[in-house]
Amino acid sequence: MALKNRTAVITGSTSGIGLGIAKAFAAEGCSIVLNGLPTPDCEAIRAGLAAEFGVKALFDPADMAKTAEVRGLIKRAEAAFGAVDILVNNAGIQHVAPIEDFPEDKLDLIMRINFYAGYHATAAVIAGMKARKWGRIINITSAHSLVASPFKSAYVASKHAVAGMAKTVALEVATDGITINCIAPGYVWTPLVEKQIPDTMAARGMTMDQVINEVLLKAQPTKRFVSIEEVAATAVFLASDAAASVTGTTLSVDGGWTAA
Ligand code: NAD
Repeated sequence: MALKNRTAVITGSTSGIGLGIAKAFAAEGCSIVLNGLPTPDCEAIRAGLAAEFGVKALFDPADMAKTAEVRGLIKRAEAAFGAVDILVNNAGIQHVAPIEDFPEDKLDLIMRINFYAGYHATAAVIAGMKARKWGRIINITSAHSLVASPFKSAYVASKHAVAGMAKTVALEVATDGITINCIAPGYVWTPLVEKQIPDTMAARGMTMDQVINEVLLKAQPTKRFVSIEEVAATAVFLASDAAASVTGTTLSVDGGWTAA
């Protein structure tokens, strides 16, 4: 039970990678604050997590596109559990279009959810972590925080921004028992990836099979999607005491993509 008596806030955790991390943390005895866009199944997800792993779990519907709600999420979690020991900045969205056609509202929303939300959540948890001399901040970035792909200008920029923020904050809190790192997955089969297939088909004039094999898995030498469990296990490691000297860095979980 590496995370017993810890509390974690995981943004965007009602689906995909965030939910996988919530389950892996709960399996280690961690109390969980789930977050995501409210859907009819949020309460069932929360209750299922609490029952399966015997941990306390809350759901908070804070909209990660809105700064006041991001800050409110941290305040409410601290009030409910007395502390936020682990913050996982995971909520993220994608939009695929050539830069000359990229809708301004999509650029704005991507920067808000993928970058500003993690920035404000990190700013909000630091004081409590400093006071307790222990904290873990984990940002789910992407191979796209290290390399680019065409038609994803806003997403790639937002993920590079998070990596820069993490390096900077790591230096600021290095003597406070707080680490901040990024996990950079390659392609993981989640609703986020499924949703971008039609746009990529349109942008590149391809079939679905062509998009999967010639675009998504083309750069991934293992030729398979990364699993949610593989990303979650890396997050458990970064949250553990064993990772106390790992800070200001990016761990790639990308099937060799960025080795090329
Ligand atoms: P997903 O679409 O399955 O889940 C996204 C989660 O974010 C959901 O819980 C959703 O409710 C939540 N969310 C979206 N907008 C929100 C908002 N405004 N406020 C609050 N919550 C919001 O996505 P995923 O594939 O699991 O991606 C999770 C993270 O991993 C993202 O940051 C993504 O960029 C990153 N990532 C994903 C992949 C991949 O291949 N799936 C690869 C690299 C990085």
